[in-house]
Formats: sequence, structure tokens, C-alpha cells
Amino acid sequence: MLVRFRTALRTVAEYAFHLVAPYHCCICRQPVEARTVLERYVCRPCWENLPLAPPPERLYNELLCTFPGDELALSGLGALFALAEGSPPMELIYAVKYRGAFPLGRALGQALGAVLPQLVPHQLDAVIPVPIHPARRRERGYNQAEAIAAGVAESCALPLLRDALCRRVATPSQTQLTAEQRRRNVLGAFAAGREAPVVRARTVLLVDDVVTTGSTLNSCALALLSLGARRVFAIALVKAS
Ligand SMILES: [Zn+2]
Repeated sequence: MLVRFRTALRTVAEYAFHLVAPYHCCICRQPVEARTVLERYVCRPCWENLPLAPPPERLYNELLCTFPGDELALSGLGALFALAEGSPPMELIYAVKYRGAFPLGRALGQALGAVLPQLVPHQLDAVIPVPIHPARRRERGYNQAEAIAAGVAESCALPLLRDALCRRVATPSQTQLTAEQRRRNVLGAFAAGREAPVVRARTVLLVDDVVTTGSTLNSCALALLSLGARRVFAIALVKAS
């Protein structure tokens, strides 16, 4: 009886909440019936229509063109969605980044983890988020790459190393920079964190929300190789051109 009463009470509370704050798809803005965390932010048709990123082989070829032979520290790169400015996947990134949606980041990370064997078909030992500068973390409340990495680690049953790397300098926004400027901008931006000794002789997976030229991921990979990592692969939710 009590259980039924509680269930009824919860249903009423949920209904009331739904009236005050119904969930809306962040892409088409339509109200959504949410059964999962992901569905609170994006409806099924919008999710299924998101443009897919080019295959890992093509992304790696792009890296080979961007970084001269000995400067490329990444052994592979995969991404889930393709992006043009203002296109639907960007709405998801904005929601993760600026609406403080850690649970959304994690749910997206789980979706990314589900296709990880196709994107990075290698044995991996640990998952490492691209760190943000502590000042930016304080301002935003959390690191969106860490939310995504948490979901990837969870869905692939891999350890998550939050503090393997730290960001030494708060690099300004890179959106207006050329590939060469981006490369110089982030070179040396990353250093060993508290968990750095754990990466020695390990094959690790770097995770970020958006990859553009790969400069940030490659700088992280350089730092990880210098800390003794065996190989560094990377994955991002979105590949921007
Ligand atoms: Zn929608």
C-alpha cells in the first residue's frame, strides 16, 4: 500500500516536473518523451540523422598530412559525428559544454564507447580525458571531455585516469587559428599529472569532445609518450572540419 502510494506520489511529482520543465530536443526543439538521459536532450529521429564522421583511416591520413613524420605522436584517431559550424552535432556539444550537462556528456561517451571497437580496433589499457585548465574548470564546473571519457570508460570497462595529464596554460580559443598556429599554440601546454606514473608502458586512449586539426590531441599524445606510454590512440565525439 505504502509502496503504491509512494509510486503514485512519484508519478505525480514527475508529471508536475514535466509540466514545469518538459524536456526538449536540443536540435529540433520539439518536446521529447525521455526514457534515457540521452533522450532528455535529443529526440530519436534527430539522433539517428546525425551525420557520421569519416572513417578512422581517413582521419589518420589527414593527421599524416598535418604533422610531419616525427611530430605525429598519435597512433590512430576515431570520431563519431561530423560537424559543420551550426550543424546539429554542435548543438549537442553546446549542451554538454555550456548547459552544464555532465550526464549528457557521459551518455554520449557511452554511445561512443559502444562503437569504440570499430573506431579504434586495438587493445587499450586506460582512458584519459584531454584536460582543461583549472581556471576554466572552475568557471565551467567540470571538464566536458572528462564527462565523455567517463562514459567511454564505463561502457568499455576500462580504467579512467582523470589526472594523468594536467594543462599548464589556459590556451585561448583556437577557432580562428590556422593549423600551424594551433600546433604552436598547444605545444607544451600539457604536463604530468598525479596519475602520470600509471601510463608507463600502457596503450592509452585520449578522449576529447571535438577534434579539428588534431593539434590538442597530438600535444597530449606527445606528453604521454614522454611519460612512457607505449602507444596513444584518440577518439572524439565530433570531427570538425
Ligand atoms: Zn529532435
